[in-house]
Amino acid sequence: MQSRRPTRQISLGDERTGIVRIGGDAPIAVQTMTAGFTHQIDATVAEIERYREAGADVVRVAVPERKDTEALGEILAQTRVPIVADVHFHFKRALEAIEAGVHKIRLNPGNISDRDQVNAVIDACKERGIPIRIGVNEGSIIERKDKQRRAEELGMYFEGHRSGHLLALMIAKLEEYLDIFDARGFHDVAISAKSMDASLVIDAYTEISKRFDYPLHLGVTHAGPRSTGAIRSVVALGTLIANGIGDTIRLSYASDHVDEVKDGLEMLYSLGKRERKGAELIACPTCGRIQVDLFTLVQDVERVLAKEIELPIKVAVMGCVVNGPGEAEGADVAVFAGDRRGIIYVQGEKVANVPEAEILDRLLAECRSFQDRVRRGEAKLGEKRVDIVPPDPIGELGSGVDRIKAGLVEQVTVGRTD
Ligand code: SF4
Repeated sequence: MQSRRPTRQISLGDERTGIVRIGGDAPIAVQTMTAGFTHQIDATVAEIERYREAGADVVRVAVPERKDTEALGEILAQTRVPIVADVHFHFKRALEAIEAGVHKIRLNPGNISDRDQVNAVIDACKERGIPIRIGVNEGSIIERKDKQRRAEELGMYFEGHRSGHLLALMIAKLEEYLDIFDARGFHDVAISAKSMDASLVIDAYTEISKRFDYPLHLGVTHAGPRSTGAIRSVVALGTLIANGIGDTIRLSYASDHVDEVKDGLEMLYSLGKRERKGAELIACPTCGRIQVDLFTLVQDVERVLAKEIELPIKVAVMGCVVNGPGEAEGADVAVFAGDRRGIIYVQGEKVANVPEAEILDRLLAECRSFQDRVRRGEAKLGEKRVDIVPPDPIGELGSGVDRIKAGLVEQVTVGRTD
């Protein structure tokens, strides 16, 4: 994992929403966008609130019509997360949104390119201290009449890339647009260069990160429903973030956008780029050794943990003794199953051996009680009291049972009761 690329920093928000910083040393921020019509105020406020509750740091709304920007004042008064106005084609929507008090503007160089219009938006943002995201999209970049020569030259430079010419056009469009901002002395800027092609996204942001020190908003656009969109997004964004590139992210799903927020956060937690909120669930995929209905158990555990556990407690749900003890050792609360029973551990100490029907309730009771003890200062997250040596079924001494018999591991009592 490479260290984070240094960038400038922008900030957005106000006293009501709190200030979200993007770039520099700020944590990578998670964004999403509303899917409904912005002018339907109550529905938009409710949608924004769902995303905020799911963990979104910033929410973007589309403002294609005057009635959308007219709704912004009321929406801003009722929401508690910084709001970005997404502007295409009509620069006046940007001016109206700024007037309404929006916290950031997104402009698309592919459809607002008139220098005077861009300058008008820059000046209004400067006056209010509002940042602008310059959002280049592969889909709106294909206009080859201007800067053709420049693009071709860059295309030669990028010819080693799979999408060399397209990448060149995106870079050229960004350079050209940033010239307007530079000339105005405006640097309160973030950049994005999205595509539906994950490998182009990786190439584009990698090149952009070498050329500009503005914070980068990462995304794979039009990524499809969650089933494919999650993979496309995470493979591209995860690669970039692991390479130290990226300051804010948006996953784009053609399905409930709450999942964009949840999956984006989980990706950042997995890479150690955000401090986890709520429990971390570890579960085995099951195999022919399984002896309990683990899938149902995991689903039930996940549902209750999401509702009730606010601390980043590590919970492991494992199917048998092969990997169960090892995960139990690393988890705060763990169960591993055997012969229709569950052996439950809290920070490495065995606390119960219960029949399958009682596993869920006992495990959750241990999670709640552990959370209470952490809150009272009686326990610490990630601390273990006892080493559990996992049985090694293919080790020198043969099966796990042999090792248990040899006294090398704890009696994990698979199939027995206390
Ligand atoms: S923990 Fe046991 S049941 Fe689960 S996948 Fe591993 S070997 Fe299979």
